[in-house]
Amino acid sequence: MHRLTLGDFELSIFSDGTYPLDGGAFFGVIPKVMWSRKVAVDERNYVTTGLNSLVIRTGSHTVLVETGMGNKLSERMIKFYGQPAKLLDNLAAAAIAPEDIDIVINSHLHFDHCGWNTVRDGSDKIAPTFPRAKYYAPEGEWQYARRPSLRDAISYIPENYDPLVERGQMTLLKGGEEIVPGISVKTFPGHTAHMHAVLVQSRGQTACYISDLIPTTAHIDITWGMGFDLYPLDTIESKKQYYAQAIPAKWLTVFTHDAKTPWAYVEKDDLGKMVARPA
Ligand SMILES: [Zn+2]
Repeated sequence: MHRLTLGDFELSIFSDGTYPLDGGAFFGVIPKVMWSRKVAVDERNYVTTGLNSLVIRTGSHTVLVETGMGNKLSERMIKFYGQPAKLLDNLAAAAIAPEDIDIVINSHLHFDHCGWNTVRDGSDKIAPTFPRAKYYAPEGEWQYARRPSLRDAISYIPENYDPLVERGQMTLLKGGEEIVPGISVKTFPGHTAHMHAVLVQSRGQTACYISDLIPTTAHIDITWGMGFDLYPLDTIESKKQYYAQAIPAKWLTVFTHDAKTPWAYVEKDDLGKMVARPA
């Protein structure tokens, strides 16, 4: 169980399980001889990828950042990724019911980040998984998701967000908004054009759910982007900007896809190399 206190807030990690991703796609242009020193890889070249959601209890709100892969994948996608679907069970084990979640925040709308936003109810209608929650997502991301490129169309499943927008339960954000006191979003382009990081601040301490800008501790080097990134040069610029704030101010970084280390402090060692210091 990963749990810590940040100022007045309590932060916990809840996983939706793990899934296999092609190591080459996960590490983009980085040669396998380099990335395979950092992560285990199987005979098919797959690496085990985590699906980490963050729960923040502020004292007045229970906030869920990211909702994993969910349970609505098509047969074809299940062949590629499986469908671990463990988030609700893991929340229940910590006595968190869907009705307890006040706010859901999606960093972007790829299927492995907003899958549990909704479920199919008995009559095959789409219903919000967290009935009382207000949902938030980047507006630019939602606009893009309506007409994605051929390259990443497979990553968008409209049932995860369109029914919420239609019923007025999802608010679309420009970036920069404070959602509740101490929790705000900031745009970091690169993985997609409009992806939001979620900043959590209490009593001078900061944590940041940096999402797919730095998906795992193996991606902390400035140039180690994912092959999935639509704008790789922007990923480098955004990482530079992030570290310029996060390293001197000792922010806790939350890693969305790290199956072993969901959060850590990124530091620069004496040789200028990025290292992840355990929280
Ligand atoms: Zn993504």
